Amino acid sequence: MKKLLISACLYGEKCRYDGKDNMLSCLDLLKDKFTLIPVCPEVSGGLETPRNPSEIIGDRVVMNNGRDVTAEYTKGAEIALGTAIENGCDVALMKAKSPSCGSGKIYDGTFSRTLTDGDGITVGLLKKNGIKVFNETQIKELVEYMELQR
Ligand code: SF4
Repeated sequence: MKKLLISACLYGEKCRYDGKDNMLSCLDLLKDKFTLIPVCPEVSGGLETPRNPSEIIGDRVVMNNGRDVTAEYTKGAEIALGTAIENGCDVALMKAKSPSCGSGKIYDGTFSRTLTDGDGITVGLLKKNGIKVFNETQIKELVEYMELQR
């Protein structure tokens, strides 16, 4: 089966900043079709769960209490990329809007739930390395894309 990198919270792991998950309702369907490789860059980068929410401000990542967590986000991104490469994943399903896993749109750094154009730190690195990224609103497109790759 083809391998798919997936945000661990979409896979049901309670690794979100608030200690909850974002388990997909179609997770079993994806497990039938693909070998899922879960990653949580924020946890593997060394952050605790639960943790304060973070947003990207310029070239830094900062928690809502002012703590600079750029190093943890960068380390987590490198670990996620390493996992993708080791497993031969060239496609990823990553959680929308996250400062790590978001693709296309992320929060704008004002902690006011305002979106702006951009990618999370991990998704930016995955894309730079040629990995195609989808989010959980694009499952149909993802499955079609993966099936065309066979
Ligand atoms: Fe989910 Fe990614 Fe945030 Fe981890 S870093 S909780 S996988 S969105």
